[in-house]
Amino acid sequence: MESYPGSLYLSQDRSLGIFVKHEVNLAVRESIDKVLNGASTAGPRLDRDVLRNLSRIVGEPKPRQDENGPPTVLSHTEALYFEAIRAQFFLRDDLPNRIKRTCQVCHNTTIEDPAQLAQRAADIQRSYERTRFMDRLAAQGLSNSGHPVEGIMRMLYTPPKPSLDFFCPVCNGKDFDRSRVTFCPECHNLRDESLLIQCPQCDYDFVAPVRERIWTTGANAVREFNVSYKYSAISNAARALDINMNNGQMKFLAGHIAADTSVFGVARCRLIDNRRRNTLLLVTSAGICWCSRIYLVFAPGGSLKWEEVASVSKTSNAIDDVRLTSRAGRTVTFGSFIGDGKALGIGVPGGVKAFDTQTIRHLIARMKG
Ligand SMILES: [Zn+2]
Ligand SMILES: [Zn+2]
Repeated sequence: MESYPGSLYLSQDRSLGIFVKHEVNLAVRESIDKVLNGASTAGPRLDRDVLRNLSRIVGEPKPRQDENGPPTVLSHTEALYFEAIRAQFFLRDDLPNRIKRTCQVCHNTTIEDPAQLAQRAADIQRSYERTRFMDRLAAQGLSNSGHPVEGIMRMLYTPPKPSLDFFCPVCNGKDFDRSRVTFCPECHNLRDESLLIQCPQCDYDFVAPVRERIWTTGANAVREFNVSYKYSAISNAARALDINMNNGQMKFLAGHIAADTSVFGVARCRLIDNRRRNTLLLVTSAGICWCSRIYLVFAPGGSLKWEEVASVSKTSNAIDDVRLTSRAGRTVTFGSFIGDGKALGIGVPGGVKAFDTQTIRHLIARMKG
């Protein structure tokens, strides 16, 4: 399961930016494609060429966009469109959420609150389960009191599930078209369009109240992207070294990464002192950190900042291991490296070519306090 860092979008003058996760990109593209396929819009007509181009921009995971790579700079119109689509995810949370049900036969419409529908469904399910439980009790009573056949018959018989079907109050039909609707906060008219930009009746701007939740400063967005880029690079490298790496391990390693941390690389080895076979080691400009798994379970690790490291050595000529001694006199030994580690070199001028035990020892010697 590869991890994508997400995408960084900047306004034309680069003063504003948006960082979104990969899933958001996919959701935005799905929304754009819906609009291109005829989903209704409340507000100005959107230019199809701009939409098509935007769909292409957000739909492609960019393997080349890294922390130094050129960010995606949106034109003024693309930025407005992106904003309008992204805004839908937030503004729907703020507006009342209702379902319009249109009878396929007589076209009678009803408005429903999905929250209430869910509640009603849960109530019906609960009372159904209570009835079944009472039936089983009664069936067991019959079996125990010398009516085994009757008892078994009752136990086998499952009452039909109560119907949650809704019938049209006009024609008693039960086939409906359903669509999500809401109400304009200004003129209180029903809005059944898929994309809400501007109210056609009162010109209310649906996007304005959520604009702040979409954009941040360009510098902030770049920082968010950089952190996410490092997370996914570490996650991909670590998972390539240990397919069974668990989320606890990734969270632990990620906890040692900030916007200005450079990442040298990740290695898989054995933590000799604690006899932990499956240990992941992360070396950054801030220090070294490690954590293990025992079978599939996360085992908390440790970390040392460079200023805490007094020396680095190897235990003997026969074994290829790395031993660190902290200023407090504690030692930690990593050995039995599985292959070479993954050199990442993110934010490291000149990069990092290899990540074997020798490189790790040299690195530690260079970085230690
Ligand atoms: Zn009807
Ligand atoms: Zn309105």
